[in-house]
Amino acid sequence: MTGSDTDFTFRNVWDTIRERRPREDRAAEIWASGVNKYVMTMWKASLRRITTQDKLIGWGYLQPKQCWLCTTEPESFDHIYFRCSYSRDVWR
Ligand SMILES: [Zn+2]
Repeated sequence: MTGSDTDFTFRNVWDTIRERRPREDRAAEIWASGVNKYVMTMWKASLRRITTQDKLIGWGYLQPKQCWLCTTEPESFDHIYFRCSYSRDVWR
């Protein structure tokens, strides 16, 4: 860093020490395989736009419910894609 003591901010320190990487854009990779319902789902998932129960509850369309696959946690993007035991078995 350069400048006087008044330039010391957490933002300046963070900008100095962090590694900058371009944001991953998975769209070209996803769309390369053609347009079908699976590609649409993968594209929406890459943008975290899957309409899960937690979103519908947040929008006031549903009352809170457990995941209908494993019934151990409320349904959310992270749950159905990464933590759900049923989904994990499907993805293997
Ligand atoms: Zn589950």
